[in-house]
Amino acid sequence: MPHRVIHYADATMDRVAAQREDPTWLDARLRAPATRFVAVAAGRHPFVLAETGARRPCYLAPNEVDGALPGARRPCPRAPTGAAGPLPGDPILLGMHEDVTYFAVDVTDAPPPFPARVTLLRIRDVITDLPHRDSAVLAYANALVHWHRTHRFCGACGTPTTSVRGGHVRRCSDAACAREHFPRTDPAVITLVCDGDRCLLARRRDWAPGRRSTVAGFVEPGETLEHTVAREVFEEVGVRVGDVRYRGSQPWPFPQSLMLGFRATAASTEIAVDGDEIAEADWYTPGRIEADTAAGALILPPFDSISRRLVDDWLAEREGAQQAAPR
Ligand SMILES: [Zn+2]
Repeated sequence: MPHRVIHYADATMDRVAAQREDPTWLDARLRAPATRFVAVAAGRHPFVLAETGARRPCYLAPNEVDGALPGARRPCPRAPTGAAGPLPGDPILLGMHEDVTYFAVDVTDAPPPFPARVTLLRIRDVITDLPHRDSAVLAYANALVHWHRTHRFCGACGTPTTSVRGGHVRRCSDAACAREHFPRTDPAVITLVCDGDRCLLARRRDWAPGRRSTVAGFVEPGETLEHTVAREVFEEVGVRVGDVRYRGSQPWPFPQSLMLGFRATAASTEIAVDGDEIAEADWYTPGRIEADTAAGALILPPFDSISRRLVDDWLAEREGAQQAAPR
């Protein structure tokens, strides 16, 4: 797959895994003036409107999240980066970029008194405004906060869990159990099925009439990724696939998926949609994609998705690298 920006992933963030074990380092970083916190409130984040008209994420400074810092109840002067007042929740170490350490903090249950100019929005509501690094750090924060909120009790014994190792483990507080639980990511395959000069695009039942995408589904226990591709494609559109090739991946932390992209060669071409998840599906040549998009009859997957990347790569191969997919 050609090198390009993969939305919601940023390999330049140093995740400082060794420092998660170091309480002295963590405590110092929690209070360092340069440290920044990503606030998460039920999947939303604070944004401010920049002079350009674009929304910019509002990272909080340590003096704005005093309530979240262990043992600290200092005054909370209004800081220029955003909100004032104490915030609840155990901070989660995200990592470092250059000299800035980033933590996530869950403010869902007690949102701080954000200034009027701050709006709480979902990442994908403003994705066209967001620099790549910001979208990646917010998505990472959102995924970890979601995991903490949904793993407050031990799955083995039901006792409450506590956040340890900088928020990358939750440990059962029952000493006899003490089981450790790790952040969860659910693998899902997403597949562009091809038949020579045609590819298969499908519409989920709850989508707008023109919207089409590739076929996707979660990996089940006991399956290889290739098995999942074959099963999902057959279940949803009734097509058998032969050759299955991996094309790349994308974190999709809304809330906790990892999308694994594939291209599959059709071994049968008759379409029979399941009528449940998928309402309709059809074969599209590059020419039909261009014409239907221009006519408003086809809406390709969003630009930030791996689904769109699978379609764009296929179009580029079919039509030549100079011709981009219609936007
Ligand atoms: Zn337990």
